[in-house]
Amino acid sequence: MNKVIDIVIIGAGASGLMVASQLEGEEIVIVESNPKIGAKILISGGGKCNITNQSIEASDYLGNPYFIEEVFKQFDQNDLLLWIAKRGLKPKIRTRGQYFCTQSANELVNIFKKETKKHTIALNTEVQNISKRGELFYIECANKKYTAKKVVIASGGLSYAKIGASDIGLKIAQSFEHTIIATNPALVGFTLQKEQFFFKALSGISTAVEIRIGDKLCDGALLFAHKGISGPAVLDASLFWQKGIISIDFLPDWSFEPHLDSKKFISSLLPLPKSLSKAFLNEWDIEDRPMNQLSKIEREKLKMLKEYSFAPAGNFGYSKAEATKGGVNSNEIDSKTMMSKKVKNLYFVGEVVDVTGKLGGYNFQWAFSSAVVCGKDLKGS
Ligand SMILES: Cc1cc2nc3c(=O)[nH]c(=O)nc-3n(C[C@H](O)[C@H](O)[C@H](O)COP(=O)(O)OP(=O)(O)OC[C@H]3O[C@@H](n4cnc5c(N)ncnc54)[C@H](O)[C@@H]3O)c2cc1C
Repeated sequence: MNKVIDIVIIGAGASGLMVASQLEGEEIVIVESNPKIGAKILISGGGKCNITNQSIEASDYLGNPYFIEEVFKQFDQNDLLLWIAKRGLKPKIRTRGQYFCTQSANELVNIFKKETKKHTIALNTEVQNISKRGELFYIECANKKYTAKKVVIASGGLSYAKIGASDIGLKIAQSFEHTIIATNPALVGFTLQKEQFFFKALSGISTAVEIRIGDKLCDGALLFAHKGISGPAVLDASLFWQKGIISIDFLPDWSFEPHLDSKKFISSLLPLPKSLSKAFLNEWDIEDRPMNQLSKIEREKLKMLKEYSFAPAGNFGYSKAEATKGGVNSNEIDSKTMMSKKVKNLYFVGEVVDVTGKLGGYNFQWAFSSAVVCGKDLKGS
């Protein structure tokens, strides 16, 4: 029989590295299929990693709010900022309360390199299956086998397979009879139906919008892209969209009423990129001329810019998504420990769990908070 290891952590991404950083004394092996640790951290936030946000609420996430709140009660954004400050990193705050590394995401990965030096990291090692017999877990990798007393699944979501993402965490959860909340790409652009194909000619243009999906409102920039629409407001909207209609206000903080008698040409009057105004005028067969010359019907058509409703065709898929919504059902995980309620000593942390945040540092905060909660339990046991 293999030597029995105290704890095996599957995945050297944000959550796995944070769990390992909480531990010392125990024999730990972190198993990672990539040739390096923290691959997603390194490419995140345009290479500067948006670590967290000034304001973190359960309502910023898709998932069970009680479960999410319970985890953040134990380790929140202020605890995280303190933890990294103690290790020499004082992130810079940018717009919308977002905290980024000062120079590059390497600053954060270097902290984790130091913190996990005391443990064994098995790189280029892909986990294929885990089983439990008696009190012990048997971890099968492509080139090795491990036997462990405890296992932490920190294998992340399904997006960006080119840097190591896999469905192994979900498969393992299912093999232990956990239920999986249906997964889908999140924080991703929308593809368009025929009626909106005229957007494609606007590729590269960005404008401030508010997007409404049911009772959720997502604001920020919308970017017209070659394949559809993207940009922060759209990425947030993708978190809440399943199928059906979204409504875009292309003129937030602007109303038509004070301008209806204006002698200015419509394309000059509207606070939008001119090519965007002209594309809509063209689409609605309205001649660009002074606002006060428009017929009632034309005015009504133009007012649709305040609530332009349509159903996206789909999204850009996992290869472009920043996150995966869905995952291991959080009702089956103890929010005080992150241990499975079904299998003793099996833990789930990070994106593999059915908790997904908006754009703005929310997903790393979840990865780190859930990891610390898990680490505290492992330490205490
Ligand atoms: C382009 C991009 C930019 C992003 N930017 C931000 C941002 O700025 N701020 C933010 O909050 N969030 C951001 N995110 C989301 C964030 O990166 C993730 O939510 C976060 O990394 C999740 O942490 P995790 O530990 O659960 O998973 P990961 O960090 O993905 O780590 C999982 C690890 O498990 C490994 N693994 C998977 N399968 C196996 C296997 N079979 N065997 C062994 N190892 C395996 C993977 O290689 C990976 O290293 C971004 C995501 C992307 C794709």
